[in-house]
Amino acid sequence: MFRHSLRAVARTAASARPIAATRAFASSASGPTFNWEDPLGAKHLYTEEELAISETAERYCQERMLPRVLQAYRDEHYDPKILEEMGELGLLGANIEGYGCAGVSSIANGLITRAVERVDSGYRSGMSVQSSLVMGGINEFGSQEQKERFLPEMAKGKLLGAFGLTEPNHGSDPGSMECVARPHPTKTGYFSLSGAKTWITNSPIADVLLVWAKLQETGKIRGFLVERKDCPPGTLETPAIKDKNGLRASITGMIQLDDCPVPVANMFPDIEGLRGPFGCLNNARYGIAFGVMGALEDCLDRARTYSLERKQFKGNPLARYQLIQKKLADAATDIAYGTLAAVQVGRLKDEGKATPEMISMIKRQNCDAALKNARILQEIFGGNAVSDEYGIGRHVANLFVTQTYEGQSDIHSLILGRAITGVQAFV
Ligand SMILES: Cc1cc2nc3c(=O)[nH]c(=O)nc-3n(C[C@H](O)[C@H](O)[C@H](O)COP(=O)(O)OP(=O)(O)OC[C@H]3O[C@@H](n4cnc5c(N)ncnc54)[C@H](O)[C@@H]3O)c2cc1C
Repeated sequence: MFRHSLRAVARTAASARPIAATRAFASSASGPTFNWEDPLGAKHLYTEEELAISETAERYCQERMLPRVLQAYRDEHYDPKILEEMGELGLLGANIEGYGCAGVSSIANGLITRAVERVDSGYRSGMSVQSSLVMGGINEFGSQEQKERFLPEMAKGKLLGAFGLTEPNHGSDPGSMECVARPHPTKTGYFSLSGAKTWITNSPIADVLLVWAKLQETGKIRGFLVERKDCPPGTLETPAIKDKNGLRASITGMIQLDDCPVPVANMFPDIEGLRGPFGCLNNARYGIAFGVMGALEDCLDRARTYSLERKQFKGNPLARYQLIQKKLADAATDIAYGTLAAVQVGRLKDEGKATPEMISMIKRQNCDAALKNARILQEIFGGNAVSDEYGIGRHVANLFVTQTYEGQSDIHSLILGRAITGVQAFV
């Protein structure tokens, strides 16, 4: 199965799927049946192609990724081959048209992130940075030459990307960034970039780093594609940040630039100010909103299984107790609502009708709900929750990060508050 054929594979799988399977929730002789794994029937809203792409992604993630994640998390090790495997399947930059990308809908792309995050938010983070933040940024804001130079190899997962916005002193407030681009003092046709970025997913392994810096002559933020292979020694360092509490199956680091020469041709040509990074973040935040539902689905699945098998008091399974059932019901409800909201915004996005505030709303709501429910479901495992073998603690630690990055939830509240009142509460 190759990346160019993601849609073809999806179409074949869709046409081969028996009607009974595609209508798993349709009426039976005794009427429709409730499916706790899709309580509000979101599947009915997907096209045949979206369903087939979801199946392809789920199969890869469960068969190839899941067996690796426990050890990767323990060792805090990210295997870059994962991105190459995803590239083979056409999962990278999947909603970009052309350049070797599959050109699927936003919902299909969301279903891919959900499948990956069902395994681990760290794996989804590595993919989102590659697909949405860097490839998406190049596709939206890059010159034709930049698109042709970078996108095809990035779609294959052979060229890896990182997105550098956050700085040690400026996280939620990127407009105050200190990273600067000046005309290079000795190299004509080059900028000289200086500054530091921190908490950057993929930075230690990235070949191309999309760095946001202020152009000295205008004071405006611009995007620069820094190619590691072209950086003279000592001008670019990307040390890893080790001993993380969460997202340990992903790799995170800094970007340190010291008079790093970057060709003028590697600057995004037109986009200026925060519209650049926020445009990239918009796509990635949509993926997160869909993705975290996958992590919570895995928590629910694990907690339900555990509650049916674990017996306490007169040999009763935990699942028999009302307090346990409430925890499961709350999680299933938030998954169902969160998924439907992501589907609605995805459709509007493809019709050009989605606003950044809609994406703030689902990113905030779904991340908060995933973290809250995962923490509550963790209680069902009692002491066993502390063992990493049960998987739930890993999701809880990861989901703290998803609530924090790409706009911490409270920052999204302020974005929504501004849209509701017209009053800016950031400063
Ligand atoms: C594992 C990991 C991977 C990451 N990957 C990337 C990446 O690839 N690229 C990248 O650029 N960044 C990345 N980040 C950085 C992430 O986006 C930032 O951590 C996030 O934006 C928050 O910034 P901060 O950590 O500086 O927190 P701060 O901005 O210092 O905020 C701390 C707290 O204060 C609150 N706060 C801040 N300002 C206000 C205000 N005005 N009103 C009310 N409350 C406020 C925040 O909501 C938060 O709760 C990553 C982070 C992590 C942990």
